Amino acid sequence: MKTPWDVSAQVASFESYVTGLSMEEIQEKYGLKKVVKMASNENPYGVSPRVLQCIEQTASQSFRYPQACNPRLVDALASYFGKKYPYITRDRIFIGNGSDEIIDLLFRVRTVANEDNVVTFNPCFGMYITQAKFHGCELRQAPLNSDFTFNFDALLSLVDNKTSMVFVTNPDNPSGYLTFKDDLIRLAAALPKSCLLIIDEAYIEFAGNEDEVSLIAHLDSLPNVAIMRTFSKVYGLAGLRVGYSILPEQLAEYMWRVRLPFSTNIIAQEAAIVALEDENFKQKTIELSIIGRNKIGVGLKNLGCQVFPSASNFVMFQIPKGSMTAKEFNTKLLEKGYIIRSLAAYKLPDYLRVSVGTEEQNDEFLSLCESILNNLI
Ligand SMILES: *Cc1c(COP(=O)(O)O)cnc(C)c1O
Repeated sequence: MKTPWDVSAQVASFESYVTGLSMEEIQEKYGLKKVVKMASNENPYGVSPRVLQCIEQTASQSFRYPQACNPRLVDALASYFGKKYPYITRDRIFIGNGSDEIIDLLFRVRTVANEDNVVTFNPCFGMYITQAKFHGCELRQAPLNSDFTFNFDALLSLVDNKTSMVFVTNPDNPSGYLTFKDDLIRLAAALPKSCLLIIDEAYIEFAGNEDEVSLIAHLDSLPNVAIMRTFSKVYGLAGLRVGYSILPEQLAEYMWRVRLPFSTNIIAQEAAIVALEDENFKQKTIELSIIGRNKIGVGLKNLGCQVFPSASNFVMFQIPKGSMTAKEFNTKLLEKGYIIRSLAAYKLPDYLRVSVGTEEQNDEFLSLCESILNNLI
């Protein structure tokens, strides 16, 4: 180091997180009245009215520090899950500033730089890649099958006794693929005893039969499995940043020791507690999202697109071959104020992902797709 602003080699080689243009920037660039964002798998119904009321009430408490380690939210989650699954006790629950923070901390406490490796599929959620890189941990990625289903043999073949963690996203992002629970249970059994299997269930509620497909129902017999969930998607609180996880008890304890004590703020904590109680909003969101994704899926198929089956609140698709590039198609949507996700960042430049919107947004999106593919706009 030569100057006071030099940084470590690992930071120097880091690239910043690339986001698309903001809604305001798109609006300005294309001179639009209205912009619709169907790109980040946010809840199109917004924040539940009950939660909004709680946020307004809690705002006046903003001068206070939150209670360290968010015990009220931990208790709420323990009682929510403990009713169904008595082995989910408060000692196993860990909360983060979004799942993003949980992923960061898992790398911090579980991996030794330049020694351990972590295994996942390719493509995968960007945060696994960023955090592995930041923590100097080798990330080994097994290719998905060409239909985006999981090849567990390929995944297992990358695991060795230096594999500290295996990440599986279920349902997967960006494809929406929901894997078989039995395959995950077999995977857990096949891993070396020292390896932690993390199932990222950020979208599991949208499968519609959460209790049947989540590995939560099996945690009592799977000591090497951790589950990650979030308030960002089905609960509509992406902007407040609350994620949670169910971890082996000893690991949860270390995570709490390492976490910045106030990382989940007081408004986020209270909002999450009320969101958890508002079963009605959650069920409505799930119901409407499933209707919406089916409609989008059928609509895109009717336009000749290749559509991948989704158990989530988004749909991955390819436009008909030979029509135009995914990029051109995406730009035409942008010009009309519709923001969807190009999957170039996932190294899938020919694929697109659209988040389920409101009924009106879904319909308008489909009719725009039709006009674009018929070269009408
Ligand atoms: C959206 C998403 C999350 C949630 O992240 P937060 O930090 O909780 O907002 C986690 N995992 C995957 C794969 C996601 O797509």
